[in-house]
Amino acid sequence: MIFAANFKMNHTRKSTHEYIEALNEKLLAKHPDDKVYIFPPSTALDGYEGNFTIGAQNAYPAKNGAYTGEIGLEQLEEFDIGTILIGHSERRELLGESQEKVARKFSFFKEHGFEIIYCIGEPLHIREEGDEEVIEYLLAQFEGIDTSYEKLIVAYEPIWAIGTGRSATTEEISTTHEALKRTVQKPLLYGGSAKPANIKEIISIRGVDGVLVGSASLDAESFSKMVLS
Ligand code: PEP
Repeated sequence: MIFAANFKMNHTRKSTHEYIEALNEKLLAKHPDDKVYIFPPSTALDGYEGNFTIGAQNAYPAKNGAYTGEIGLEQLEEFDIGTILIGHSERRELLGESQEKVARKFSFFKEHGFEIIYCIGEPLHIREEGDEEVIEYLLAQFEGIDTSYEKLIVAYEPIWAIGTGRSATTEEISTTHEALKRTVQKPLLYGGSAKPANIKEIISIRGVDGVLVGSASLDAESFSKMVLS
C-alpha cells in the first residue's frame, strides 16, 4: 500500500522537522512493502532521511527563470526531490490551473524523470449525475497526460470529499476505481477524508492501492496510525 501525506499550506520548516522525527520512529514498525510519501510545503523541503519519500506539492515547469513566487526544477534538485503532486483539485479550482497547464507540467516533470502522483476528481454536481458522468469527467482529466508513463501513480480524489469529513462510500470508491483501472493500469490511490477511523475499510477495497491524505496526515500520530493500520 501507498500512504501519502499532503500537508498543503500547513506546517513550518521547524514543525515539519519535528513531525518527521516523530514519524520516523513509528515507521520502524511499518510493513516493508508499504510506501510512505510526505509532501510538505516548499519552504520545508530539505534532505530528510528515513523510510519515506519527500515530494513537492507543486512546482513550475521550468528549471529556473522569471516566474515570481514559483519554485522550479533547480530548487527541487537542491534537495534531491524526484516526486511531485500534479493536478490536485485545489490547484485546478483555487489556483486556476487548466487541464492544458496541468498537462504541460506533467510533460515537463516526466521529461525530467519525476515520479508523479497525478490527481483527478469530480465536483459534487457531477457525482450526483451518476457513475457514467463521473467516469466521463475523470477521463477528461487525462487529456494530454501520458498514462503509460512508468513513474505515474494516480490519485482519485472526489472534490466533495476533500477536507469535508465525508469520505466517498465503499461502493463509490470501488465502482470508480474499477472503471478507472480499465483505462489506466497504474497504482490508484483514493483521497478524500481518509482518516484512522476509516482507513482499514478504504484500503481493503479492491482496486485501492493506497491513500492520499490531507487533514488526517497533519499529525504524525494520526498519520502513523493509518500507515500501521
Ligand atoms: C487532499 O486534499 O489531498 C485530501 C485528501 O484532503 P483530506 O484528506 O483533508 O480530505
